[in-house]
Amino acid sequence: MDSNNYDILIIGSGPIGLACGIEAKKKGLSHLILEKGFLLDAVYRFPTNCIFFSTPELVEIGDIPFLTNGPKPTRTELLRYYTKVAEFYDLNFRLRQNVVGVAKNNGNFEVKTTTGDYYSAKAVVLAIGFFDHPNMLDIPGEDLEKVTHFYTESHPYYRTKVAVIGGQNSAVESALELYRAGAEVTLIHREETVGRSVKYWIKPDIENRIKEGSIKAFFNTVVKEIHADKIHVQTKNEAPFELDNDFVLAMTGYHPDFDLLRQAGVEINEDGFIPVYNRETMETNVPGLYLAGVVAGGIRDANRIFIENGRVHAKYVIDHFTGTRE
Ligand code: NAP
Repeated sequence: MDSNNYDILIIGSGPIGLACGIEAKKKGLSHLILEKGFLLDAVYRFPTNCIFFSTPELVEIGDIPFLTNGPKPTRTELLRYYTKVAEFYDLNFRLRQNVVGVAKNNGNFEVKTTTGDYYSAKAVVLAIGFFDHPNMLDIPGEDLEKVTHFYTESHPYYRTKVAVIGGQNSAVESALELYRAGAEVTLIHREETVGRSVKYWIKPDIENRIKEGSIKAFFNTVVKEIHADKIHVQTKNEAPFELDNDFVLAMTGYHPDFDLLRQAGVEINEDGFIPVYNRETMETNVPGLYLAGVVAGGIRDANRIFIENGRVHAKYVIDHFTGTRE
């Protein structure tokens, strides 16, 4: 057998990609997980002090119990847990393999990476998440170094003026953490209030910080331009104005890599930007090409699927591929 030929190739080594590898192993399939960064890249890139919303039992994979110090896992606990699970199942993965092409020839898939390596398999699972593709503001100045779509830690922002854009969980959590680390925070959100999906235990905190003036907030407001020391802002039905600004944290959400999906032949429902797939089998319109996890949500449903309810996709995929669905 060609050493780069497998029953199934899994692209992405997040929790769902690992879960797919586990299910493949359980069914005696040869598998390879290709990851463009390092293991669990997306989990690693969550904010350093992040505590996940899900309780540990809801993010377990491979029937391995997950014990945490507190009621919910920290980012570090998640990284350790999933790494240990990958080792326990002796999963086969190759890191720093950025997939740029997925093609089907004579019933077999060929997968190409930026390093010039080729892999082939009978089936491919795209478990690519969405964290690499932030929703861009598409405004002048977004490419300045002071702008980021990824929040890690608050300390570097001490005594700086930070504009946080967005009104859902990432925006609100980072705004609160930055304020507590001594930054001067302005939350700018295009809707009337903070988002409905903001967790019930976080919402009163942000609302009260805004009410007491510790965090400034502009609702119904968008940023129009970003400059080195200012941002240009517009509130609905009002004259544009400027704010002094050192950093912009654009917490505007993420979307899957549609270029890779399209290149692989996956149809995208352009209406809601949702990939076409069968929800029971996770198979796309390309036979043998599957989606697993967050990627299946597209843009409109970007946050509908997360670790808790994406884990099950691994079993759907492998059961369908092996024809063993009960
Ligand atoms: P999100 O829920 O998609 O929210 C993105 C925010 O950015 C929304 O308020 C959206 O406005 C706004 N936005 C999008 N495009 C914009 C644009 N062009 N201009 C201005 N505003 C724009 O993203 P998120 O908060 O990063 O959450 C992503 C996922 O991570 C969710 O599943 C969330 O639950 C999860 N999360 C988990 C934790 C945790 O476990 N501790 C923490 C944070 C996030 P609209 O409200 O108008 O759509």
